[in-house]
Amino acid sequence: MIDDLPPLRAVIARHDLRAKKALGQNFLLDLNLTARIARAAGDLRGADVLEVGPGPGGLTRGLLAEGARRVLAIEKDPRCLPALAEIAAAYPGRLSVIEGDALAIDPLAHLTPPIKVVSNLPYNVGTELLVRWLTPRDWPPFWDSLTLMFQREVAERIVAKPGSKAYGRLALLAQWRCEARIVLTLPPEAFTPPPKVSSAVVQLTRLAEPRFPAPAAMLERVVATAFNQRRKMLRSSLRTLDPGIEARLTRLGIAPTARAEEIGLEAFCALARDLDAG
Ligand code: SAM
Repeated sequence: MIDDLPPLRAVIARHDLRAKKALGQNFLLDLNLTARIARAAGDLRGADVLEVGPGPGGLTRGLLAEGARRVLAIEKDPRCLPALAEIAAAYPGRLSVIEGDALAIDPLAHLTPPIKVVSNLPYNVGTELLVRWLTPRDWPPFWDSLTLMFQREVAERIVAKPGSKAYGRLALLAQWRCEARIVLTLPPEAFTPPPKVSSAVVQLTRLAEPRFPAPAAMLERVVATAFNQRRKMLRSSLRTLDPGIEARLTRLGIAPTARAEEIGLEAFCALARDLDAG
């Protein structure tokens, strides 16, 4: 027992929270598991937590039981609000719930640093939210760490290394300014209803400085362009960025015949700096 609130199955039955596929609803009902995910985010005492998509509140309860100073939960489905209000009443002053689309809400107005983001993300907006959190206008971002559940295949793309099929834009964006690792994998049966594929929790901890200097906008552009045509050689996939790309790559010690998936973070950063300089 992590709290005195009713079991999640009872909460779901009482509030008639039948999962809706369109909202990416696959609920975690095992509170020991949600407390474990909360612990993967590190020490929550003294931190505010942003949770996107609390649903019936299993992870929310884990976060509060593990000592989060405050939790801000953004939920699109109004059916979940009465269940979340019961949790708020059990933890006075520590849980705020906003009904709405996480893509349209600025959480900063409601949170005080240090801030951790911990969420079992809806699959349809998960990648978009992650990319937003990884590409703020200024670094460091508003958050200290992101602890996020994704479909396993997406989690593997975030932590992928050069030379693997999963390596691409997400890996480079994540690993440029964060330490990224998979901390937990879960089979479909851990969820109600079970999704088609396995899931994994990724822990991203921000670095104070990027691993290698590079202008963010140019790095994002180079990486997106290179992986847009990942099977092509760089001299061809990057030509739209610079007609003289072949000579530039050679000068930088990058083989113009290499493909994007063979190029590491350091070389992409060097190329972005060079292109930015003109
Ligand atoms: N956190 C709960 C759990 O672990 O059991 C539910 C996770 S479920 C995968 C995703 C939740 O995100 C659902 O409750 C869904 O209604 C909500 N959701 C979907 N799209 C959303 C959006 N754009 N903004 C906020 N919440 C959203």
